[in-house]
Amino acid sequence: MHDLRAWTHDRHRQVDDEPYGGGAGMVLKPEPAFEAVDALRRGPHTRVIVLSPQGLPFSQAMAEALAREEHLILLCGRYEGFDDRIPQGLDALELSIGDYVLTGGELPALVVLDAVARLIPGVLGDAASAQADSFATGLLEYPQYTRPPAYRGMAVPLVLLSGDHKAIARWRRKEAIRRTRERRPDLLARAALSELDRELLAEVEEEAAEKAAAKNGKRTTDG
Ligand code: SAM
Repeated sequence: MHDLRAWTHDRHRQVDDEPYGGGAGMVLKPEPAFEAVDALRRGPHTRVIVLSPQGLPFSQAMAEALAREEHLILLCGRYEGFDDRIPQGLDALELSIGDYVLTGGELPALVVLDAVARLIPGVLGDAASAQADSFATGLLEYPQYTRPPAYRGMAVPLVLLSGDHKAIARWRRKEAIRRTRERRPDLLARAALSELDRELLAEVEEEAAEKAAAKNGKRTTDG
């Protein structure tokens, strides 16, 4: 962590100033940000990221790309944000962690840091867990269960206790498709589906239609 004030040259160590054109709040000045990046850059392999609600939406795919970079500098804004020459002049990648506005870029930087760091070999105890996570395959992850096998009337799906690895893999893929279809149809529409995935999706759709018909039937008999 570095304090931008370390790259100021005035008595008050000022990093912000009033916005040109007037308006509320203060804007982060270019000089400390440029000088900080000049001092911290490690040659041409440094990638500069500016956290901003106006940036590209941060995603798992972006975390994977950033995990392959050698050195990242993350610039956190405050107040009204950065003088626009900062991201431009530093040729920075502007990233947003969501469509809401936080007070500063520190939490967004930690979010990016955590998502990227867990993809670096050696950080997770078992690298395979990141490969099956939601988004890594373009879909949400399948539901997970642990002991006990039954709790408060809720049983773990029997297939998971069967020891049949092939059947478990099929069930998990199907449930990942079902869950993504129900919760994030936008992801499913973009996902690259194999022939088996399409077969599983057809099964899921058939089951959903049967469930809807049974519900309608019940409503008709009830009503
Ligand atoms: N005036 C700016 C605007 O409307 O776009 C918002 C500035 S915000 C109050 C202050 C700083 O918090 C930003 O410069 C940025 O670093 C950080 N920040 C706030 N929301 C963020 C988000 N959703 N994603 C990334 N950074 C964010």
